[in-house]
Amino acid sequence: MGEFEVIRTYFQRPAANAVLGVGDDCALLALASGMQLAISTDTMVEGRHFVSTVDPHRLGHKALAVNLSDLAACAAKPLAFTLALTMPDTNDDFLQAFSAGLLSLAQAHGCDLIGGDTTRGPLSIGITVFGEIPEGQALLRSTAQPGDDLYVSGCLGDARLALEVMRGRVQLPGEGFEQARLALEQPTPRVALGLALRGLAHSAIDVSDGFLGDLGHVLRSSHLQAQVDVDGLPRSRLLAQQSAHWQRECTLAGGDDYELLFSASAGLAQVLDKVAQECGVPITRVGRLLQGPQPGKVQLLDHHGREVAQTYASFDHFSSSP
Ligand code: ADP
Ligand code: MG
Repeated sequence: MGEFEVIRTYFQRPAANAVLGVGDDCALLALASGMQLAISTDTMVEGRHFVSTVDPHRLGHKALAVNLSDLAACAAKPLAFTLALTMPDTNDDFLQAFSAGLLSLAQAHGCDLIGGDTTRGPLSIGITVFGEIPEGQALLRSTAQPGDDLYVSGCLGDARLALEVMRGRVQLPGEGFEQARLALEQPTPRVALGLALRGLAHSAIDVSDGFLGDLGHVLRSSHLQAQVDVDGLPRSRLLAQQSAHWQRECTLAGGDDYELLFSASAGLAQVLDKVAQECGVPITRVGRLLQGPQPGKVQLLDHHGREVAQTYASFDHFSSSP
């Protein structure tokens, strides 16, 4: 199968949100007046972000999910995306499952595939998403306020737990592994929650590299410090059954969580709980933000209020210890 047949068969679909979709030199998007375009790109490379044996349906889902998660963190509504697909050959089974996983998530969020590029090479998937947001309403990392409560959606750490099982460092029964593996391979982007946080949250980020690392980005951008209840970080029952070491490692520095970490005025707790309920995703208050002499610093407290020493590192592609 040639390049253009691949595009036609698997990726060319009618676009509802675009003036022009797949098939010309450019796609065209029209924005309603007063709206801003939110844009984000994420790439997934075989051997780096996923193993070669991963289910291609899940791979298609995740490639878009991680991008939708960035839109959610900015409170932007998904509109469209482009796909830069590099693969060693054109395998029908792979393309069928990959495009089904990708396009079913796209459809669920009304996000059109409007263009891309298809080339031969080691398997790699680059997606750029476009979302819309009323002017001035994007949630940023830099606008957290002192005194804000800090919240996280869903559970942290299951994706990392699955990775540790694959690495042979943790053992789980088959059923437990399947649950953790789903968190790793098929994350749910918190799009509805992100949209619902417009006008309520002061700041937001999605947890992709690990809770502590991503919180650090917010703190440094907003020139604040944080106190975090380390035992209060939300975790699945599965993770709660692991050793204290793995619970802390996975919740604090797990990575691949794709939950929203956001801050809001302390008086909003009840409103936020209601909003989260309407979005069908639990949120947990995990700490608070304060002004202090060391912007970026996170103080971890156990449930007795004692400080816990920090030895957790988030993921960094180019750090010296990968
Ligand atoms: P050009 O050579 O003008 O850059 P291409 O021949 O690469 O265009 O692509 C033809 C059309 O197919 C373009 O509209 C492009 O956006 C689209 N396209 C290419 N690859 C993909 C893909 N993987 N998914 C969706 N659209 C794609
Ligand atoms: Mg061209």
